[in-house]
Amino acid sequence: MKRVDEHLADILGAIRELPPLELALPESYGGVLAEPVTAPVDLPPFDNSAMDGYAVLASDVASAAETSPVTLSVVGDIAAGDQGAYGIGPGLCARIMTGAPLPGGADAIVPVEWTDGGTAKVTIRRSATPGHYIRRAGEDVTAGQTVLPAGTRLGPAQIGMLAAVGRARVLVRPRPRVAVLSTGSELIEPGRPVGPGQIWDSNSFALTAAVTEAGGVGFRQGTVGDDPREVLATIEEQLAYADLIITSGGVSMGARDVVKEVLSGLGTMRFEKVAMRPGKPQGFGLLDDHVPVFTLPGNPVSAYVSFQVFVRPALRALQGLPPAPPRTVRARLTAPIISPDGLRHYLRAAVAYGEGEPRVTPAEGQGSHQVFALASSNALIVVPEDVTERAAGDLVDVLELS
Ligand code: AMP
Ligand code: MG
Repeated sequence: MKRVDEHLADILGAIRELPPLELALPESYGGVLAEPVTAPVDLPPFDNSAMDGYAVLASDVASAAETSPVTLSVVGDIAAGDQGAYGIGPGLCARIMTGAPLPGGADAIVPVEWTDGGTAKVTIRRSATPGHYIRRAGEDVTAGQTVLPAGTRLGPAQIGMLAAVGRARVLVRPRPRVAVLSTGSELIEPGRPVGPGQIWDSNSFALTAAVTEAGGVGFRQGTVGDDPREVLATIEEQLAYADLIITSGGVSMGARDVVKEVLSGLGTMRFEKVAMRPGKPQGFGLLDDHVPVFTLPGNPVSAYVSFQVFVRPALRALQGLPPAPPRTVRARLTAPIISPDGLRHYLRAAVAYGEGEPRVTPAEGQGSHQVFALASSNALIVVPEDVTERAAGDLVDVLELS
């Protein structure tokens, strides 16, 4: 049997980064920058006020106090967006709003709360030192500075950064488009009645959501029965647009393992047994020379664990990100576990954080069909191939699910 690490290495070795695309900012969320972005100007671009108040000479208000207020003449009103070339001198001030350009001569802002709010004359009851509540040009970013390096995944704050330096479009490796298909003649769409021998399809829903969570764009293709022509035709349709395809079901040793049957010999597809539990039967390869296709086992827990272990790193690699698995922590077992020799075992579990080390409790019901245990878990305990038991109190590796 093939080791998990070997299978993952083969997958990552086959995957090529998606070509970069120039996208408008609203479409760029989740993309990974394929260029470094520099600031064309300083941020802030000009000295401006951090408060609503009065622009003053600090020397004019140096003696201001509750018991000895200072009164200045107000020579103007400066709003955010004003371009007027205001200036003040000794004994004068200008009313100013947050974000408005600092008038010439002024070197401090007195917030409106320290004054009587006057419009012709203003009485100031506290002193301010030079620079008080002034946001200086370039104190955030200087012109020419790299604000986001290539390889940055764009979230809300990074998209805000791009807009703040005036970018309307940006070169990114986009979120991978992923087609998700369930196979099995027993599968029925949720919402419809199930008859004898039938079950509701859950894999395509869980896997499409897992794609979204991993930073891709999932397209659920629903279910197809175990009909070779239909399965092949549906997979081929997805090749027109998908950056990656995931199927579930039909890859084990049964008489009607239709996915294996129709894809064997196509592209670089290989169907193998990987030394893991759950998730032993795995298929992977490229179709049309470049589209990675993952044929995951049908049992819902197997499909989901396989996604986390193999597909998630592949999605990251498509965007040129380091193909890290989900975050792993060390936690103390609250109960003993046993594990098959030679297989890497992923046990559904609940990890809890309190004072000291995290503690992890294996779920009841470790069958690969037991979706309740999976849905009640927030982690997988990862037991190495050569470990067959662990006692309560032992430290184990835990892979965090969101
Ligand atoms: P298979 O890999 O096709 O042999 O399926 C293994 C087990 O997983 C069978 O019990 C299937 O009924 C079940 N299964 C397959 N696909 C799904 C699915 N999309 N949703 C829920 N259960 C599934
Ligand atoms: Mg099946």
